[in-house]
Amino acid sequence: MFTAWKLNQTDQGFSATLAAWPDEELPAGDVTVAVEYSTLNYKDALALTNRGPVVRRWPMVPGIDGAGTVLESTHADWQPGDRWVLNGWGVGETHWGCLSQRARLNGDWLIRLPKAFTARQAMALGTAGYTAALCVLAIERHGALPAQGSVLVTGASGGVGSVAVALLAKMGWKVVASTGKLQEEAYLRALGAAEVIDRNTLSSPGKPLQKERWAAVVDTVGSHTLANACAQTRWGGVVAACGLAGGMDFPTTVAPFILRGVTLAGIDSVMQPQSARCKAWQKLADLIDAPMLDQIAHDIPLDQAQAAAQELLDGKVRGRLVVKI
Ligand code: NDP
Repeated sequence: MFTAWKLNQTDQGFSATLAAWPDEELPAGDVTVAVEYSTLNYKDALALTNRGPVVRRWPMVPGIDGAGTVLESTHADWQPGDRWVLNGWGVGETHWGCLSQRARLNGDWLIRLPKAFTARQAMALGTAGYTAALCVLAIERHGALPAQGSVLVTGASGGVGSVAVALLAKMGWKVVASTGKLQEEAYLRALGAAEVIDRNTLSSPGKPLQKERWAAVVDTVGSHTLANACAQTRWGGVVAACGLAGGMDFPTTVAPFILRGVTLAGIDSVMQPQSARCKAWQKLADLIDAPMLDQIAHDIPLDQAQAAAQELLDGKVRGRLVVKI
């Protein structure tokens, strides 16, 4: 038996139940794992509260991220005792996920837990941290450099934002952190932000082209915030867009792209090939240190996951929630 959250949608409506389930219920897969830590991402919070169309097959065990130890494997790359980390691949959406003591997964989805991190630290990063690293890699690929100006990070106190601030500061960027939680200025400065601005300055409709302020942007918010970020990006700059915390819409014009050569780099973490995942985790291993993770992560037990999901969606959570399984 293993304990897991199970979400279901029936004629009686939506239900989320934490209970013990028999091992025989685990889905098909070539690697069976013990999950030691998982985490609550924005997507997990939507799934646990049925607030967004995240789950595409019922019943579903949520949890898009996990880390732990291999128990059994018929996959050539994985042996019992190996340490693994997993982000995305539709786990927790179309395949049973990691808010569970046990999971059965496709060995091709797993990557080795970097030596730099414990399972808990990997989940303190989770998809949020790995996505922040993908954004940073997109900025690097574009050739943007700290000497060209400041980098803006929106939703800075959130999971992706916090890690993006820390990574970019470590790489020598002057990081301007945009947040709705101005009381968290000390936290953002401790992560490496050089300046903290009120997110309200970016969230209303603005002109198609505005004063050039950013050499690069990591945007987790979308909507007018993303439109204004593009309108304020310097000639030739890059905007890595990964989130929609402020809305899915994108009310902009082509002006920043055709008059300033701004590049909009879309970031999807779910279907990234293995090589990009390894590069992103290497970036995290190279630049993130454990004391920083202790600042951004808070542990919760598995049975608190649904209550914490509500708080996360209400915007009350700073940094990352790690779920101890
Ligand atoms: P969090 O909930 O941890 O952080 C989101 C942050 O956005 C909040 O902390 C808040 O920061 C800000 N925010 C929240 N609501 C609003 C609002 N209405 N208007 C403006 N800002 C708001 O989420 P994550 O960091 O985990 O994820 C951020 C976004 O990125 C989400 O939309 C998520 O779905 C997306 N994402 C996408 C991925 C991909 O593959 N493309 C992967 C992972 C995440 P503050 O108070 O500092 O302003």
